[in-house]
Amino acid sequence: MTYSIQESRTDEVLRISGLKIYYKGDLGLVKAVDGVSLSINRGSSLAIVGESGSGKTTLGHAIMRLLPYNAVIAGGEIIFNGRNVLSLSKEELRKLRGYRLTMVFQEPSAALNPVFKIGSFLKDVLKKGKGASMSESELKEEMISLLRKVRIPSPEEVLNKYPHELSGGMKQRVLIAAAIANGPDLMIADEPTSALDVSVQAQILKLLDELRAKMGLSLIFITHNLGVAAQVSDQIAVMYAGKIMELAPTSSIFETPKHPYTSMLLKTIPTIRRELKKEGLAAIPGSLPDLTSPPPGCRFHPRCPMAMEDCRKVDPEPIEVEKGHFVSCLLYRDKA
Ligand code: ATP
Ligand code: SF4
Repeated sequence: MTYSIQESRTDEVLRISGLKIYYKGDLGLVKAVDGVSLSINRGSSLAIVGESGSGKTTLGHAIMRLLPYNAVIAGGEIIFNGRNVLSLSKEELRKLRGYRLTMVFQEPSAALNPVFKIGSFLKDVLKKGKGASMSESELKEEMISLLRKVRIPSPEEVLNKYPHELSGGMKQRVLIAAAIANGPDLMIADEPTSALDVSVQAQILKLLDELRAKMGLSLIFITHNLGVAAQVSDQIAVMYAGKIMELAPTSSIFETPKHPYTSMLLKTIPTIRRELKKEGLAAIPGSLPDLTSPPPGCRFHPRCPMAMEDCRKVDPEPIEVEKGHFVSCLLYRDKA
């Protein structure tokens, strides 16, 4: 079953079905993404949340076809704008990435070449896409307009600066400007704010949300932080050990979480009330399983306080417990 909030497929930008991405390692195949299905409509935003090592980045990189040499596509398909990304040629991919499909990474400093000024970097991005036939003055105008869209003050001055002359937040804004330069349909943002301090993080999240609404952009936001996910997403997919455990509208994840793992993750979010009451944060006992030989049955069973005998044997299928709210947990099998 493909988790999908919307019934209509007409406005679907991305549909992933039964995706399996494994890595060849010394100890065997690491099952980083193991049967993931989801879809996203134009203009909507989905946050993929989970602990470190749950497979979020692998999923994002698979959509972009940016997988490392030891990755194996073991099954499934990724349909973007009606075409399977996994079967595109290098030339077809080159026409897609950076244009219709873009990605913003975690560490802005690493993503910008220190020897090129911001103007030179953005011009290069534009010239490969919608600026291909623009004159120098049109390109400059377009770059200034882009920097304004991402709320960079004094854009003309910034075009003339090197990356090291900008703060981390400004660099991330420049990278977001590059990501939207050629009018993408889908942007994947992989922990784009985790290297930034909290106030800058809030500004960048607000910016992404604004751009999505104004440009009709679809957004996949990858994060380990449910609190951050809440600020930018219409839907949240909770990943654990290569699988989606729960997918629902953001409000339902917070108000009526169904999966034991989601409930435990929610308790790890810091709140002022907990701070004041000195309650401390609940840690999830145990750790992620070794993905070369994940536990049989439900992968969460060794850490689940609700685990039953069957949980060791039966791998739960996603069940739609309420409209648009999917859970992979045997506690809900009578609702299947
Ligand atoms: P993080 O938040 O730490 O980036 P994540 O949820 O994004 O974690 P992935 O980075 O996708 O998770 O990793 C999923 C699993 O795949 C982990 O067990 C990781 O160690 C493994 N993995 C990732 N890249 C490779 C690789 N190139 N070769 C072998 N194993 C890998
Ligand atoms: Fe826990 Fe069983 Fe549900 Fe898995 S299937 S989350 S082990 S109750």
